[in-house]
Amino acid sequence: MLESTCHCGAVQIEVPRKPRRLTNCNCSICRRYGTLWAYYKCAGVRILAKPGSTSRYSWGHKRLSFVRCKTCGCIMYWEPVQAKAGSMMGVNARNFEPGMIEGVRVRRLDGASTWKYLD
Ligand SMILES: [Zn+2]
Repeated sequence: MLESTCHCGAVQIEVPRKPRRLTNCNCSICRRYGTLWAYYKCAGVRILAKPGSTSRYSWGHKRLSFVRCKTCGCIMYWEPVQAKAGSMMGVNARNFEPGMIEGVRVRRLDGASTWKYLD
């Protein structure tokens, strides 16, 4: 079990294991957020946040919600708007302690156009 927190500590996330790889996506939202995504099954991730401490943003087809801390603004994760069994989510690995992701391969995803990895 590994934990990530936002800057002020209001939002904490527990993930089951160290990520096997990280994704640096160039789509219009990820490049602005500067996020590094670690993907997990929704069912394996625990979100610890008081009600009302986060806000959400969805755009385009509105299939995903991007969730951030209302107080310090850190982007914490994205999840499907309508989760099904086996759904995946992305946890922003920028909020992990740096040692936790040291040495993990970062892949560049061309989310802006082809949806293929560039490396
Ligand atoms: Zn915060």
